[in-house]
Amino acid sequence: MNLAEAIRRGLIAEAIPARPVRARSVKELARAGLVSVRVHEAQLQNTPFDYAAAAAREGIEMGSRIRCFWLGPTEEIELSLRRYRGSDRGKCATSGFGYHNVNAIMERTSFAQLAARGWPMSDGRPVHTGDSVPHSDPRWPRSCSCGYAFADDDEWQCNPDALFRRGDTGELVTLHAAPAGAMWDADWMGEHHKGPDWIHLCVRTPGGEWSVDGPSYQDGKVQHERGWTRTGTVPDVTANPTIHIPGKYHGFLRGGWLEEC
Ligand SMILES: [Zn+2]
Repeated sequence: MNLAEAIRRGLIAEAIPARPVRARSVKELARAGLVSVRVHEAQLQNTPFDYAAAAAREGIEMGSRIRCFWLGPTEEIELSLRRYRGSDRGKCATSGFGYHNVNAIMERTSFAQLAARGWPMSDGRPVHTGDSVPHSDPRWPRSCSCGYAFADDDEWQCNPDALFRRGDTGELVTLHAAPAGAMWDADWMGEHHKGPDWIHLCVRTPGGEWSVDGPSYQDGKVQHERGWTRTGTVPDVTANPTIHIPGKYHGFLRGGWLEEC
C-alpha cells in the first residue's frame, strides 16, 4: 500500500496528514480516518458510524486506560468488493458516508493464492483493482442500502486488504477493523519518518489514528516535523508529549497504555 492509497482508504487522519491531503478534502479524510473502533463493521452494515456506541460495545469508557497491542504483518488477505458513487450523483442518508457506498466481504485468502489466480501484484502484494473480479459476478453489491441501484459507470473496487495478526490474541484483523490500542508499522510512509527501531509507529486511539513518528500539527500547519519522542519496545511504548486529536481524543501513551487525560 502506498501513501496515496493509505490516504484514500482513510488510514491516515488528522494526526498525520501528509502533503497529498491538502489537494483533497481534509474534512472527508478526517471523517473517514478518525473513526476507528469498528468502522469496518459500520461500513458493512451501511449504518452511520456511532463512535460512542462502538466505544461502549468495546468496553471503552471516557478516561479509561486502553492496553496497546502489536499488529504484525501476515500474507493473508481479506478480499472485499466495493461499489460507490461520488457525491455528484446525489447524497445518501443511509450509507454513513454521505454518498452511495456498499462494501461486501468476499473471502479470506492469501497473497500466494491471489497471485496463482493471476491477480495483479506489486512488490509481491496484490493491488487494488476495479475488475479482477468480473463485474458479472453475483457477489458484487447491486444497490446501496438506500435503494439506489448502482450504474455501470459508478466505481468498482476489488480490495484485497492485508490481514494483521494481533500480538495478544493471535486474531487476524484488517487495519480498519482493529480496535483502539492497535499499534502497527506504517511502512508505506517511507523512510523519512521512521523511529529509532526503524518502524513508523502508528497507534489507534479512541479518536483516530496517530502517527507517533510523524509530524504534529496545529491549525492544519506542521508544528514539529517529528511531533513526539518515544521510548520502549512495542507495544510497551511511552511517547511524549500527549496526543491531542481536536474534539476527538486527548491522552497519554505510557508504558503501552493509552490513558485519556
Ligand atoms: Zn445510498
